[in-house]
Amino acid sequence: MSEHTQEVVSVESLAKTYESDRRTVRALSDVNFGVDDGEFVCIVGPSGCGKTTLFRIIAGLEDATAGAVKLDGKPVSGPGTDRGMVFQEYGLFPWRTVAENVAFGLEEQGVEEPQRSARVDEMLQLVGLDGFADAYPKELSGGMKQRVGIARALAVDPELLLMDEPFGAVDAQTRDMLHGELLDIWSETDKTVLFVTHDVEEAVTLADRVVVMAADPGRVREIVTVDIERPRERTDSEFANYVERIRGLIGE
Ligand code: ADP
Ligand code: MG
Repeated sequence: MSEHTQEVVSVESLAKTYESDRRTVRALSDVNFGVDDGEFVCIVGPSGCGKTTLFRIIAGLEDATAGAVKLDGKPVSGPGTDRGMVFQEYGLFPWRTVAENVAFGLEEQGVEEPQRSARVDEMLQLVGLDGFADAYPKELSGGMKQRVGIARALAVDPELLLMDEPFGAVDAQTRDMLHGELLDIWSETDKTVLFVTHDVEEAVTLADRVVVMAADPGRVREIVTVDIERPRERTDSEFANYVERIRGLIGE
């Protein structure tokens, strides 16, 4: 057995350069970190430090210039149902009901009835939307839409839940509620979560470890282990110390 059997995601010497006629952008340079099985890791950093680029390469939506991302030791070479994705823009199908949105990945996988509906019901219950199976996305609030996004991502039981600023478009109060719900879902399902945000407080609220990035070139500045019991309170001095330390690393 290798020493990495516990690691669900390994990012190894990853680099990404965007080149055009006019300019070269080093979006990622020599990025290295791992995410352990069942771990909740946040990636935090200023705008433009390469968070979305990193997310897209791990998701298999974009190729790296150098280095590799491995999932359970196997190099990622494209998208797959082993990674469930949640984006800020929801990405729901407007012509499908809530239940039909959640069923999408299961259809792709060829899961038949009645297993498919049973799984959809289970997911809607998990995110607290069991009464909204027949509603359409336009009838939902931002927070509810994002719960549908989470249910859809988890329906196919992915190895990794990948989220890019998923709560960036909802109001602060809803965001706090979604944080609690996401942590409940995480402990209930034992999922491994990789969560991208520019919000330091959000990262300290959620993460076991925070990968702090810097820009120009996009790189890992430091990896901070957040050793505070959950639920965490923003008003705790310990919490504030972590926020201050990470902000200092970012240069905020
Ligand atoms: P973040 O999500 O942290 O804000 P991004 O990964 O979106 O950062 O972008 C990192 C850098 O790469 C930025 O300088 C951005 O302008 C550049 N970039 C991102 N995508 C492209 C692209 N498709 N073509 C050229 N440059 C890009
Ligand atoms: Mg981004």
